[in-house]
Amino acid sequence: MFFKPKPARDDFPIRRSEAEWRAALDPLAFRVLREHATERAGTSPLNREKRPGLYRCAGCGAPLFDAAAKFDSGTGWPSFTAPVQGRVGEREDNSLFMRRTEVHCADCGGHLGHVFPDGPPPTGLRYCINGAALAFEPAA
Ligand SMILES: [Zn+2]
Repeated sequence: MFFKPKPARDDFPIRRSEAEWRAALDPLAFRVLREHATERAGTSPLNREKRPGLYRCAGCGAPLFDAAAKFDSGTGWPSFTAPVQGRVGEREDNSLFMRRTEVHCADCGGHLGHVFPDGPPPTGLRYCINGAALAFEPAA
């Protein structure tokens, strides 16, 4: 009987060295995506973005959230009820003495934010995402 080992923390389809990521990303996006920083609330222009379109990973371009799933949570971070199916991974995060669920790009492992069980319908989930981790592509 064979068991496929669970992927290691950094075993993602898109892998780059820290130096490569640092060169490819602007400083804030690097801090968020690769070092799990959180941008200051209310600072992302994407908080006010209301156009239809697609939110892509600022690291690798993977499609992560459809604008149709965006809602105004009042938290100061772009918030969504659901990701594009299969494009966002989750893992438990026990830092800061809290149990939270961290979410990341399933393709490059870039840290996006957290998901909380206090969102609106239809899912009841609130994906609280750093705008610096996203690149918005308005619908044509
Ligand atoms: Zn990515």
